Amino acid sequence: MADCNKTLRELYQYLDGHLTEDDRSHIQHHLDDCSPCLEAFDFEAELRTVVRNRCTDQVPDALRNRIAQAIEAEG
Ligand SMILES: [Zn+2]
Repeated sequence: MADCNKTLRELYQYLDGHLTEDDRSHIQHHLDDCSPCLEAFDFEAELRTVVRNRCTDQVPDALRNRIAQAIEAEG
């Protein structure tokens, strides 16, 4: 599909929430017809969920401070 590259580019913006309703429905429509893009979308969406959870839940301030101190101690 000629639309794939464009759609994949829009997909990142879609995941960042930067698209209009029109863009969104265009992507959704493409994903319905194109399983490679749908897989890419699922992967990206899952990756972002994991990263977001890591950043908020699993890396608390205390750990970030310890890392910063370790870097200072090294230097
Ligand atoms: Zn596609």
